Amino acid sequence: MIDLTLFGKQSETDRLKQLHRDGRMPHALMLTGEKGIGKKMLARWCALLMMCENSADAPCMCCRSCTNIKNDDHPDVIFAKGEKYTADGIREIVQQTSLFPNDGDLRVIIFEDCDQMSETHQNILLKAIEEPSKYNRYIFTCENTASVLPTIKSRVVTIPMSEMSLPDCVSCLVVKGVSQHDATKYILRMGKNPGKILEIINDKKKIALQESAERIAQCIADENEYDTAREFSRYTDREEIFGILSSLYDIISRAVRPDSPDEGVTKSLKKNLTLKKLYAVTQRIEELNALSEYNVNAKVFAAYCSSRLFEIIA
Ligand SMILES: [Zn+2]
Repeated sequence: MIDLTLFGKQSETDRLKQLHRDGRMPHALMLTGEKGIGKKMLARWCALLMMCENSADAPCMCCRSCTNIKNDDHPDVIFAKGEKYTADGIREIVQQTSLFPNDGDLRVIIFEDCDQMSETHQNILLKAIEEPSKYNRYIFTCENTASVLPTIKSRVVTIPMSEMSLPDCVSCLVVKGVSQHDATKYILRMGKNPGKILEIINDKKKIALQESAERIAQCIADENEYDTAREFSRYTDREEIFGILSSLYDIISRAVRPDSPDEGVTKSLKKNLTLKKLYAVTQRIEELNALSEYNVNAKVFAAYCSSRLFEIIA
């Protein structure tokens, strides 16, 4: 059975309940927010809300429909993504939408990570969502809507995920088996995103990259170019270097925010670098990350990262 306890989604569920109560639930929703923040879980909760047999205000969690969804066994809740999107897969789903639902009077189709759909995929889908039917509801999730076609965006109601509070994020990690002490420690190091934290701490390689990124962030705070170059030079694998850049981006971005806790490396960054410099570093990291599409030599790239960063720090 899937645990559908939501953490830090009060404002989102309040809004959805209100729409449901008022009979104004849109036929297509788009849940947006960073990976790991709980969009898929909220999409499933939304399916519960829409399909619950007793639902007046919130899903009852015990009717046949709720039970089937919790068991991931509802014939009319369809997760469209599979391994990855294909034109044939989406065509098949669009065809299904012209049929009656299997079980009740509603079918909910969840398009996870819809920003991974190509323009062709989205155009195939467009036909289904531009003709609302009382039998079909669509829920899209994505990190950002930049690659989503305007014709799709204009037909969905977008619900951005709010940032999680520290206690909500701790509770979520504790439920997943992390101790309260460790949960707080990880959040301070990696930010309030439980999915991302779990992904890193369950993968030895990722945690090593995270630690490297933290050492580099400390070197940046200390304006120590030599040790930054040395840390980068430990890596000869492109993927690993881009992994470090991605974690480094998160760390520096947190330091830019006035509400981030004054702890550890965040504190050093805030104390030693101006906001303008920190912001410039995030932009420089974005530029370096954009090179992931090019086949650059890893060793040369590692040295390049360090020197490009210090052009703006020193
Ligand atoms: Zn129910």
